[in-house]
Amino acid sequence: MGFDNVHNLKIYKKDDPTKDDVKEEKNAPKLSPIYDKEVICPVCQNTFKARALKSSHYRMEKKDTDFFIRYLSENPYFYDVWLCNKCGYASMKIDFEKIRDHQIELVKQKITPRWHGKIYPEVYDVDIAIERYKLALLNYTIMEAKSSKKAMTCLKIAWMYRILNDAQEELLFLKEALEGFNDAYYNEGFPIYGMNSFALMYLIGELNRRTGDNEKALLWFGQVITAPAVSPKLKDLARDQKDLIKEEQQLLEKKKQEESEDTTSSTDKEEVPTKKKGFFSKLFGK
Ligand SMILES: [Zn+2]
Repeated sequence: MGFDNVHNLKIYKKDDPTKDDVKEEKNAPKLSPIYDKEVICPVCQNTFKARALKSSHYRMEKKDTDFFIRYLSENPYFYDVWLCNKCGYASMKIDFEKIRDHQIELVKQKITPRWHGKIYPEVYDVDIAIERYKLALLNYTIMEAKSSKKAMTCLKIAWMYRILNDAQEELLFLKEALEGFNDAYYNEGFPIYGMNSFALMYLIGELNRRTGDNEKALLWFGQVITAPAVSPKLKDLARDQKDLIKEEQQLLEKKKQEESEDTTSSTDKEEVPTKKKGFFSKLFGK
């Protein structure tokens, strides 16, 4: 797609891409429950058809504890990113129009010259969704968008990897989401993607738990549980996750005791993942 050479680009910092050219996206024939929505690109003024899913077709199965909704039906996450195939501007649809003048310039300078264009099939799948979320993430990064936007995109990429049962990639993106939401919590105004400060506190706790930092998770959950004016539903969620950690810790303690009774020499060092280099170089790798 023209983004092979992005080795040194970091999500929460910025960097410099180079050049390529553009093709037109073909309009797909209409297929229920998918339809085309006419959108004007705020960067290049191109009018294009964004594929969308009729909300009447959503059938929710359940919600994971980090707010990921599992669907029985066609998956609306697959259609969450809008992409202008003329200039390469991409973002989650909720943000598509929310682009400032200096950000438009950044997309024109750093995305458009390298954009090859890409033709997608009529129906999107999880792999296409991942690719499109990563394109959005690249755009947000290039245009120096708020941490919350990059964090939410990373969270959704993690969810897509969860669909694929790719725990390693999921963890990578959960960590990136956590970093961004931490920053957003202290530096941005609320609501953030519909979350008030308590909902985000809970989510940060849960992302800490899912990425293996139980101590921090307990601190965040504790704040949600003890704060006044938190919805009972959110408090229950925080309590459940706190209990889950406690149960796991007790199980671990029990296991350690049993092991120390069995043998005197036991080493169970967990491998600490090293800070990765060239995050974006992997995003579009084949
Ligand atoms: Zn455009």
